[in-house]
Amino acid sequence: MDTFKAVVVTRDEETRKQSVALKEIGIDDLMEGDVTVKVSHSTLNYKDGLAVTGAGPVVRRFPMIPGIDFAGTVVSSESEEFSEGDEVLLNGWGVGETHMGGFAGMARVKADWLIGLPEGLTRFEAMAIGTAGYTAMLCVLALERHGVTPDRGPVVVTGAAGGVGSVAISLLGKLGYHVIASTGRPAEGDYLKDLGATEIIDRAELSEKARPLGKERWAGGVDTVGTHTLANVLSMTQYGGAVAACGLAGGMDLPTSVAPFILRGVSLLGIDSVMAPKPLRIEAYDRLARDLDKDKLKALTTTISLEDVIDKAGAILEGKVRGRTVVEI
Ligand code: NDP
Repeated sequence: MDTFKAVVVTRDEETRKQSVALKEIGIDDLMEGDVTVKVSHSTLNYKDGLAVTGAGPVVRRFPMIPGIDFAGTVVSSESEEFSEGDEVLLNGWGVGETHMGGFAGMARVKADWLIGLPEGLTRFEAMAIGTAGYTAMLCVLALERHGVTPDRGPVVVTGAAGGVGSVAISLLGKLGYHVIASTGRPAEGDYLKDLGATEIIDRAELSEKARPLGKERWAGGVDTVGTHTLANVLSMTQYGGAVAACGLAGGMDLPTSVAPFILRGVSLLGIDSVMAPKPLRIEAYDRLARDLDKDKLKALTTTISLEDVIDKAGAILEGKVRGRTVVEI
């Protein structure tokens, strides 16, 4: 492949303004790495929306190919870990931020960042999961490790109709939890129930300033929103419960008090997918291959082409994208 298509973000050094275009580039435009991959699929996450539009400071080196996830086939490798023809996937590690990412026909990366495609998943499915879905699994693992099991009581998922939210609901529902889905899109109620939600609540219920302690409504939660939403989720968590916090779709602040922690023994579990160690990633994907209903994954996934990425990037920031989006390269 002499040249291939890529979404390229550049910045005008004088005005500091970012722009983005679909370009034809060559392998020499990529950065150093010991494994070269022919990318077949990527995905669109909230963070990719920030990177492509420049709405948040995600891209930290210019020019940059955004795309924090990709799956594909190894075409050449200087690493003993991978050989030509191996199917691989990548999530995070600064790819699409400081290292050329997945919105391109080819990628060249460090072998340490790749994992072999888990048994039982296709490349398409791995990208339908993507960073959002793998983060949802990290949240579920964290809740389980904290002892938040289905018999302890309901769990709440905020940002329910988004990528992390949709996968979290599917996983928790299949694992037998009573799932309360918090959404600003009541029209998606049936969609969320089909995925595994038992109850739907309006996200406005959680968006006002939180009281130090509220009525105990759930044993735990997965929060993708941050700010007042996370503060309310914490103040309504039952004694000894835990909340896995992974997102900031509503804001980066956390206007809470110590009350839930010191009076109810509630734990706040921080979730980071970008630098998560490889054994944890492999564990998360093994669990995803086992615990995620493939039909539900299909139902929550929309497929777009590389040409559509720039348009769709704005839509995900506006909260208009439902579930997960796979980019077919
Ligand atoms: P999506 O855009 O797909 O979903 C976010 C959802 O949040 C929206 O669909 C909407 O859900 C809700 N939402 C959006 N804006 C607001 C708002 N102002 N107030 C309240 N709710 C809002 O994003 P992803 O699922 O890809 O990511 C979710 C968050 O998790 C992002 O902040 C992302 O950066 C973060 N993230 C963090 C990771 C980590 O490693 N820690 C990894 C992956 C994601 P609804 O319409 O149902 O209300």
